[in-house]
Amino acid sequence: MTAIAFDYPEEIAALREGIAGFIRAEVISRHERNNELLSNPRRKYTEDGAYTPQVLELIREVRMAAAKAGYYGMCAPTEIGGGGLGYLAYFVAWEQIFRQCGTHYWLGMYAVAHWVKGPSPVLRKVTPQLLRDVVPKLMSGEHSMCFALSEPGAGSDAAMIKTRAERDGDGWRLTGNKIWITNGPYAEQAIVFAVTDPQLASQRKGGISAFLVPTNSKGFVIEKLVKMWGHQGTLEAQLNFDSVRIEPHQLVGELDQGFKIAMLGVGLGRMYNSGKSVGLARWALEQGFDYAKTRETFGKKIAEYQSVTFPLADSAMHVHAAHLMGLNCAQLLDRGLPATKELAMTKAYCVEMCKNAVDRVIQTHGAMGFTNEMYLTDAYTELRIVNIADGTNEVLRGLIAKRMLAGDLDL
Ligand SMILES: Cc1cc2nc3c(=O)[nH]c(=O)nc-3n(C[C@H](O)[C@H](O)[C@H](O)COP(=O)(O)OP(=O)(O)OC[C@H]3O[C@@H](n4cnc5c(N)ncnc54)[C@H](O)[C@@H]3O)c2cc1C
Repeated sequence: MTAIAFDYPEEIAALREGIAGFIRAEVISRHERNNELLSNPRRKYTEDGAYTPQVLELIREVRMAAAKAGYYGMCAPTEIGGGGLGYLAYFVAWEQIFRQCGTHYWLGMYAVAHWVKGPSPVLRKVTPQLLRDVVPKLMSGEHSMCFALSEPGAGSDAAMIKTRAERDGDGWRLTGNKIWITNGPYAEQAIVFAVTDPQLASQRKGGISAFLVPTNSKGFVIEKLVKMWGHQGTLEAQLNFDSVRIEPHQLVGELDQGFKIAMLGVGLGRMYNSGKSVGLARWALEQGFDYAKTRETFGKKIAEYQSVTFPLADSAMHVHAAHLMGLNCAQLLDRGLPATKELAMTKAYCVEMCKNAVDRVIQTHGAMGFTNEMYLTDAYTELRIVNIADGTNEVLRGLIAKRMLAGDLDL
């Protein structure tokens, strides 16, 4: 029985099935073979909180296997050799990956190019030199990237960035700081957003450009690894640019029009997090219902207590609604509609429903739910963070209200 009346296009249905097979063959089996290394924080990270070289090699192996199998670059633009699939494919793929992998088989995160870590529509317009010298290694999964927009003084209000790219002959010199940059400690390339025309930028009329910068450039410094809640190591870094030389061919998109690329990226992030939330909520709920059927107290299965099953049933309703919202929003975006309000509603709703679902499943498991063995607490911390990344709950509500006040009352 399927709960979704909507027929997936044939290629999306095949993709979903194909990814499930890839996860079994290349992610779960690799994870099982290296379980101690990948699950034990003492072995996974170095003293300073970075992944060990062995872990980085396993990540690279998964990326490269996924690229060979055709999944990694499936949503990257055709202009750079990607599959050119849209938001529906992106949503469905991430939903499948997280439902199957949960937070235990976390290598699954590298089966499809994530919008900040791998080739994505933000690289639609690159120069011939980047296309020849840099893109192939990103597409093959050999190299990865990061997306450097946020700064200590510019988060939700990203147009406030102060990093400057000042003219230097035919190129630029990059100076400034970035913070919270996912994959920053490991990426070979960074897409960096910087002010190229301060006057336009101060009027919020452009003036920000995007550049693809090798992270081993002179003056490109990983200043700090930033450890987040629940993790002994990190994916996030603080970056410093000390007069980094930028050549003309490193420009991505049009000069002074980089903010649109940044917002395209953030939009992909909202769709990614929606798919991830639906997938993780389904993964958690399945465990909750399974456990309720087996655990006994006072001579009964706990599934016989409505106080146990009703919160799970509530979450089932919310997961179903979130799933439909994601499928609907992805199709609006694939039709080329901006769907600003719908994407904001989808991301905010999916993340909150998943956080609640995971919390309820932890409760269903009693003390067991709080152990590291269940990986439910990992899911909770991951989801709590997503209330902040790619548009905070408050900013998303602000967007929804703004559209409604402007007369966009369609719901
Ligand atoms: C795990 C993680 C990974 C990240 N990865 C990246 C990355 O790879 N690249 C990158 O560039 N950035 C990244 N970020 C940064 C992320 O985009 C910012 O944290 C986010 O935009 C919020 O900015 P802020 O943290 O500065 O909070 P602020 O913008 O300072 O917000 C503080 C509080 O004020 C509220 N607020 C702000 N403005 C409004 C408003 N207009 N209306 C109502 N309330 C408002 C917010 O909702 C929040 O509660 C990441 C963040 C996290 C947590």
